[in-house]
This record gives sequence, structure tokens and C-alpha cells, in this order.
Amino acid sequence: MSSTYKRSYFRRFIDIWLQHSAKCFLLATFCIHLLQLPVCLLLSSLPLFWLNCISCSVYLFLLRLEKKRPDLAVTGAEVEMIFFALSASAIAGLQSGFFLYLICLLALSSYLGDAVEHCSASAAQLLDLEGIVALLCVNGRIPLRIANFPAPTGSPLFVLFSMNLCICVFVTLMSVYLASQVLRRQNRQLEAANHNLEYIASHDPLTGLQNRRNLYEQLESLCRDSDTKGLVFCAAMADIDDFKSFNDQYGHNHGDLILTTIADCIRACTRENDVICRWGGEEILILFPHTPMSAAKSVLIRIQTELHKLTAEAKAPFFREVTLTFGLTQHIPGQSAQEVVEDADRLLYEGKQTGKDRVME
Ligand code: GH3
Ligand code: MG
Ligand code: MG
Repeated sequence: MSSTYKRSYFRRFIDIWLQHSAKCFLLATFCIHLLQLPVCLLLSSLPLFWLNCISCSVYLFLLRLEKKRPDLAVTGAEVEMIFFALSASAIAGLQSGFFLYLICLLALSSYLGDAVEHCSASAAQLLDLEGIVALLCVNGRIPLRIANFPAPTGSPLFVLFSMNLCICVFVTLMSVYLASQVLRRQNRQLEAANHNLEYIASHDPLTGLQNRRNLYEQLESLCRDSDTKGLVFCAAMADIDDFKSFNDQYGHNHGDLILTTIADCIRACTRENDVICRWGGEEILILFPHTPMSAAKSVLIRIQTELHKLTAEAKAPFFREVTLTFGLTQHIPGQSAQEVVEDADRLLYEGKQTGKDRVME
């Protein structure tokens, strides 16, 4: 129980951190510099104390800048870290471990590049900058040691090195973990976007019914099941009767409402695994998997009965009688998907010729 609580607190902490990556990073780095102040005083290293004071002021400025330009504030902080690592090393010597900041900065900047908007290029640029700084150090253009400041030795050196090592290991591990969380989050968003796109591409926006896109695939699979396993299925092509004249008389918007109401009515009368597809303008194809003709027909009659009820209530948009004609066919083994649709279409045509508002089989 308590570990679940702890996990959920940790998750919440990580969520907040990921939501405000730039601010949290700046605040954390500010705190690290702030915590170094008493350590420097205890070690009587005034140059390091003042250097940390300068860094704290820089972070106060960057925290203000972050509100308007988080990307600039983060890049500024990364440059400050390079400057601090070099200056502190020059003051306290390479053995003090301040140069380790340059190494953990690589993991940190790669995470920040992903987490903070418009910061994606900064990781690569930072690597360039670190390369240039390293070259300048090797060439002696940047002094790695300022002779005026006595380098700490013994216990003070041990304290400084341990502190810097702990900070750098912690920052590196935290950066790697946060980067993995950013990646996981981005993957989830991508999956959701793909799912959404797939839905948009395969559904009709007006009625929410499937469009033709994946229909033949489903139909072919049903034909295979019928051919190989003897699982019969039925297909019905529905068409609204005299819909053109309805549109002409009551307007296209009311016609659209009729279409969505009919789609809802078909959805309500069919089973979860029946397939309903807006085939064309006002034509709807229904597939009844693993269903014989008699059962499919009774579903179609139920749909017609519901429509008659709606017409009798005469509520908008049912200003006049709205009926459907169906062409219903059962798959015969050996028949192709195309032939099933043609059969249903032919029967629908016959239904229209013989008086409409009927199920033709
Ligand atoms: P029938 O009984 O023979 O089917 O006559 P009908 O008037 O329904 O047939 P027709 O094919 O002549 O007309 C179909 C009409 O369906 C024409 C078009 O205005 C209408 N329609 C097609 N798609 C939509 C749509 O998305 N919204 C609306 N409101 N009407 C549509
Ligand atoms: Mg029609
Ligand atoms: Mg039509």
C-alpha cells in the first residue's frame, strides 16, 4: 500500500517535472549553486563562494527569462554551466571535479533538447561548444589553473570532489531517466495521433459510420470464413427512399439529420460485431457476420419498424415519412466480396422497382 503511495507521489513529481522541464531544471541548478555557498564558506574558498554568487544571480535572471523564452533560458543555463565548470576548475584545480559538470551536461542537454520546445538543436550545438572549449583548453588559450588562488588539498579537496561527483552522477542519472520518460510520452502521443488518423481515414464524419476504406478487407475475410469454415454471413444494402425530394423540400441540413438518425437507429438495432458502412451518399451497407438470412431479415424489419415509429412521432427532422429499402443477400460459398455487394445492390434495385420501404431477398 505504502509503496503504491510512494510510486504515485514519485509519478506526480515526474509529471510536474516533465510539464515544466525548463523551470524545474533552472530551479534545481539554482539550488545546487545555493547549496554550494555554505560549503565554499566552510572550506574558506572565497573565490568559489563569489563564483557561486554570480551563478545564482545568473539563474535568477534566467528564471525570469524562462517565462517568456524557455528555450533561450535553458540554452543560457547550459552555457553558464560550461563557464562555471571552467572557472571553478581554474580556481580549485582539475582535481576538484568541477570539470565533471561538462560531462553530465551532455546527458542533461540531450534530455532538455527533447523536453523543452525549440531546444532540440541545442544539444548538438552544446557539443560543438564543448569541443571548441576543449580545443582552447588544450591550446592553452583558456587557462586551466589560475596561479593566484591556492588549490584546496587534503580534506577540503576530498569534500569538493565528493560533492561534485555526487551532483554529477545524480544529474546524469536523472537526465537519462527523464529523457526516457519524455521519449515514452512522445511515443504514446504518436500512437494516439496515429490511432486518430486511422479513425478519421476509415470513418464518415457525418454519421460516424465506417466508410468503404477497410470494408472489402472485412468482406473478404467473411467470404473466406464462409468458404472454409461454413460460417455463413449476410449483407444488406440500404437506401433512403425519395431522399432527393426530401432534401429539395426541407433542405440539406435536415437531410443530414435524417442520415445521422438513421445511422444511430441502425447502430441501435444491430449487434456490436455487425459492420455498418456508409457506402455512398445515402446508401448504407450492413454486414451480419455468422448470421443466416432469417436472423438478418428480422434485424432489418426491426430497423424499419423503428423508422416507422419515428415517422409517426413526426418530430424534427421527420417532417414526412422516411423509409428505407433493403437488398438482402446471404453469401453463397465461392462467391467473391464484389459479387456479394453486386447481389445486394441488384436486390435493392428490385426493391425500389417494386414499391420501396421493403426488404428484398
Ligand atoms: P430512391 O428512392 O430511388 O432512392 O430516390 P432518391 O431520391 O433517394 O435517390 P437519388 O439517388 O435520386 O437521390 C439520392 C439523394 O441523396 C441525392 C442527394 O441529394 C442525397 N444525398 C446524398 N448524400 C447526402 C448527404 O450527405 N446529405 C444529404 N442531406 N443528402 C444526401
Ligand atoms: Mg435513395
Ligand atoms: Mg441512392
